[in-house]
Amino acid sequence: MIQITMPLNFLGTVYREIRQSLVDMGQMFDLLEQPAEVQDKPAAPALAVKGGVVSFDNVKFGYDSERHILKGISLTVGAGESVALVGPSGSGKSTIGRLLFRFYDVDGGAIRIDGQDLRDVTQQSVHDAIGVVPQDTVLFNDTIRYNIAYGRDGATEAQIIEAARAAQIHDFIASLPEGYDTAVGERGLKLSGGEKQRVGIARTLLKNPPILLLDEATSALDTETEHEIQGALSRAAEGRTVITIAHRLSTIADADRIVVLEAGEVVEQGTHEDLLARAGRYAQLWARQQAEEEDDVA
Ligand code: ADP
Ligand code: MG
Repeated sequence: MIQITMPLNFLGTVYREIRQSLVDMGQMFDLLEQPAEVQDKPAAPALAVKGGVVSFDNVKFGYDSERHILKGISLTVGAGESVALVGPSGSGKSTIGRLLFRFYDVDGGAIRIDGQDLRDVTQQSVHDAIGVVPQDTVLFNDTIRYNIAYGRDGATEAQIIEAARAAQIHDFIASLPEGYDTAVGERGLKLSGGEKQRVGIARTLLKNPPILLLDEATSALDTETEHEIQGALSRAAEGRTVITIAHRLSTIADADRIVVLEAGEVVEQGTHEDLLARAGRYAQLWARQQAEEEDDVA
């Protein structure tokens, strides 16, 4: 809750933070509820990314001291590996994303990227290393070109088109009478959810981050749209370390590894086939979602 007594300069800070570095986070992390108060150490260096190995080492965290949310999470995502986080609502998936983005510091253990503790490097350099594809891409009232180019200062036309192609939105843009100059946003052409999401993917690809953090859409996209987005995301994932926060298991079945969380703990991990064979928590979640999807179709 934003209290009416909150100093205006704090709101100013939050707003600037969002504008400068977090706008691409969209609604993923309920931005306005996040404090902008994690401090860099004096003279902290920038993160030096080599392969993009992400490791959580016995990470403990709670939003307040009364309630422990993450109870000792250990998890390594290798360079170029694709890992999906699944688990019931409230199990701590988004919290892991917020900690990786260093919205908060851990209470115990450590999070490292290529061996560097996030607390020892600048927050800005962590944000630069991680591309986020949120559920809802926020478009500016400007051209499609601007909306993609926002991912990188001084991007050339060729780079913008390359990113749009990889995000599988170039052909659509090229088919518009005004092409990349088409105005979008509230006062311009209304894009569908899937088109907006692909513009967001293009923006992230232009940023060219070694690490991708994906928040899957919860809303049931139609199959064709979902298929297009999955295609764009797999292209985006090539050669990067990818952590996907997954709600629908059907879209992450081919991840290199699936990590199952429950109440802030890793309870299982393995490939889709491994986990089904175990007949444990994942197998239960899978069976439940399959049944729900059949209900939806019926
Ligand atoms: P998931 O993404 O798996 O649904 P979250 O990481 O969002 O779960 O939440 C884990 C737990 O932390 C939940 O019990 C949630 O209520 C709590 N939580 C999430 N955000 C906050 C917050 N800003 N302040 C206090 N508690 C929170
Ligand atoms: Mg969540």
